Amino acid sequence: MAEPFIRAKLSAAERNFRSRIAQLASGQWFLRGTLSERSTKCGKPNCHCANGELHQSVYLVQSHAGKLRQICVPKPWRQRVRQAVKDYQEVQRLIEKVSELEWKRLQERKP
Ligand SMILES: [Zn+2]
Repeated sequence: MAEPFIRAKLSAAERNFRSRIAQLASGQWFLRGTLSERSTKCGKPNCHCANGELHQSVYLVQSHAGKLRQICVPKPWRQRVRQAVKDYQEVQRLIEKVSELEWKRLQERKP
């Protein structure tokens, strides 16, 4: 039988982690991966990139089913994607904190 979940029994620190997770989960986009900024030439001979003024492109790189995959992030999406990557990492960090606390409870047999 599972122990009932009683929020009031949690430490203030754990309640904080959990509130932040709930806040993020209800109001943010999440995207796992890392952003890679690249300078590229498009190959058109008359383009400014032919004189060394390269195009700045951003790719999201993610491991998926054991392989790396990447996707170009168009300019209008960059801000949203940067934030989603940041928020994914933040929620991961917070979940890890909460997991660690549960590990300790299990280890000490203190539900
Ligand atoms: Zn170009």
